Amino acid sequence: MAIGFLQNPIEYLKGVGPLRADLLKKELGIFTYEDLLNHFPFRHIDRTRVSVISELTQEADFAQVAGVVLQVEILGQRAGKRLVAQFKDKTGIMELTWFKGINWIQKTIIPGQSYLVFGRLGFFNGRPQFVHPEVERIDSAQPMEKNYMEPVYPTTEKLKARGLGGRQLAKLTQMLITQLSPAVLPELFSLSQTKELGLLGRLEAYQQIHFPANAEKAAQALKRLKFEEFFVAQLRMQLVRAQRHHQSAGVVFEKVGDAFNRYYSTCLPFELTGAQKRVLKEIRTDTAKGRQMNRLLQGDVGSGKTIVALLAMLLAVDNGYQACIMAPTEILAQQHFASIQTSLSTIGLSVALLTGSTKTAERKKLLAALEEGSLSLLVGTHALIEETVQFKKLGLVVIDEQHRFGVAQRARLWKKAAVPPHILVMTATPIPRTLAMTAYGDLDYSVIDELPPGRKPIQTVHRYERDRSRVMEFIRTEIDKGRQIYIIYPLIEESAKLDYENLMKGYEEVKAFFPEPNYWISMVHGRQPAGQKEANMQRFVSGDTQIMVATTVIEVGVNVPNATVMMIESAEKFGLSQLHQLRGRVGRGAEKSYCILLTPPSIGKEAKERMKIMVQTASGFEIAEKDLQLRGPGEIEGTRQSGALNFKLASVIQDRPLLEFAREQAARILDLDPTLVKPENQLLRAYLQQQKGSVNWSKIS
Ligand code: ADP
Ligand code: MG
Repeated sequence: MAIGFLQNPIEYLKGVGPLRADLLKKELGIFTYEDLLNHFPFRHIDRTRVSVISELTQEADFAQVAGVVLQVEILGQRAGKRLVAQFKDKTGIMELTWFKGINWIQKTIIPGQSYLVFGRLGFFNGRPQFVHPEVERIDSAQPMEKNYMEPVYPTTEKLKARGLGGRQLAKLTQMLITQLSPAVLPELFSLSQTKELGLLGRLEAYQQIHFPANAEKAAQALKRLKFEEFFVAQLRMQLVRAQRHHQSAGVVFEKVGDAFNRYYSTCLPFELTGAQKRVLKEIRTDTAKGRQMNRLLQGDVGSGKTIVALLAMLLAVDNGYQACIMAPTEILAQQHFASIQTSLSTIGLSVALLTGSTKTAERKKLLAALEEGSLSLLVGTHALIEETVQFKKLGLVVIDEQHRFGVAQRARLWKKAAVPPHILVMTATPIPRTLAMTAYGDLDYSVIDELPPGRKPIQTVHRYERDRSRVMEFIRTEIDKGRQIYIIYPLIEESAKLDYENLMKGYEEVKAFFPEPNYWISMVHGRQPAGQKEANMQRFVSGDTQIMVATTVIEVGVNVPNATVMMIESAEKFGLSQLHQLRGRVGRGAEKSYCILLTPPSIGKEAKERMKIMVQTASGFEIAEKDLQLRGPGEIEGTRQSGALNFKLASVIQDRPLLEFAREQAARILDLDPTLVKPENQLLRAYLQQQKGSVNWSKIS
């Protein structure tokens, strides 16, 4: 028995067989021994602790008592029908109640018999009771073991019905575990490393997480396995990154030249913030090294990422390379194009725009210019990825609002040059730093953590339906001062039809309140043809309309400095980071701006919490942190597909210190031994090699 043992199909395990194997596969996704080993108990029943009825208190969540069933009766009718057993120990009497499976329970619970009863403790009229407890005859074949923490496994009704309830799963797992050895389940760390880390060994951890000797051991086992999850994920990403650093040739931007300098000294409309300067320096250093830069630039909405991108693009031009920036929507691409074009006109550089709606003739000209190298700067959408787009000498790719693009899409841009271009990925989705490094650990990381000076804070308020007319009056005063307004409606996939109707109804209401010709309204939503969307957006951007009624299609990047009010309808339906993104559409000019969150009078507790957080804090990073706590990592935009933040046991929220520790350890090991060739890292290397989807070792020398 050796490595490979755990890959055995589950039907080979004694007591499983083809029928049960089928069920295990279908119901729990358990295909192999390894899957079963990784089917962890969600808790343990401490069979060593038996309480007495008189001492049961409201504080206890779960309890176990031993006693005798006195009488069993069926009470109530239909939905209220239940089976109630009086249960007695030396100190008192309590009730056990079942609403379901009454017939079966009635057959198994016998008055006069002794039972061990375990369940979630409830109180009724001050008296303790169990509803649907687990019961076990005390004098049954197996005597009670001492020091026994019984694992409770997730299972399903179907499995239970086929004799594969939690207890049977425990038996199978027990059988599997007795067959384990270090040869079958190798350690990842050398002895001294394990000791240094202060962790249980791997084999022991698996034994103890299923069948712990006591609660403390269970906790240690959990810690070790969580650490392992974090550590392996971190190590993989850091390896990819290290590999890129050591291996990949990169375009060299050796100098800062004319375009950059002239733009910097004559066209820059403001002084860069300290954070912007720092990031530029990071990019500058990175791109001069002769290896490919792969940098994630994170910065809150409005922190000024665009100018950093532009300057980096000029750096490319100064070194004889082409550069492009890809935006997730046509609107954004156009906006970037317009602002880059204006700001570059004075230094005589030309830039082109390529999107899905670029006309054929123009596209032809543009593609030819790209290929022969007469065009240096290109702004575009997904259209940039297409095969037909060929650069002569692509040196830098900037990807704006990266969470809108998949990794595969990014990779296609890479391939547009013999030597891979530098990549700068920008995102406004605020992710706490540690998590960013976890989710994007294969990228280098920069952050603009400072807003341009003079920004007036956006005043955020939470208002209810009943305040609507006052809110509208306020909006009128803003418009009459010459400002522009966003009114945003939710459009959620699951309730698209209803939401759409609400949007239309809302639009009519707004129109009734703000009639033409004094007021003009744009409406933008996902069901419009691209051209129409574009035109409506453009009218708002140019100031022809004062009000923009829209769904979240406008969420990213749009820049209308004259807009001062962001009103969000049914704000309770939005997530925190989305609300924050929307809020970021205002406060971009000199005037004081407002964000109004409108909700029905009664909203859920969590929604209330979200409104409160929005009103209280302006920092995207703080909001991201709260969002994470409220919703969990699965919901963070941009990481959802990658699953990089979702682990089986570990939680990037609750186990943050452990994550940090694992990250440091991975870095430390790679620091000393970047390609894992030292003897003490051979177990680790073997493990990584054996795992599927492993790092491409041929590229690591
Ligand atoms: P984001 O990071 O959200 O993409 P933008 O790049 O669109 O932000 O910048 C937001 C606004 O701030 C723009 O109007 C931009 O011109 C302005 N801006 C950027 N940097 C500075 C700065 N250092 N000082 C003043 N204004 C700045
Ligand atoms: Mg932007």
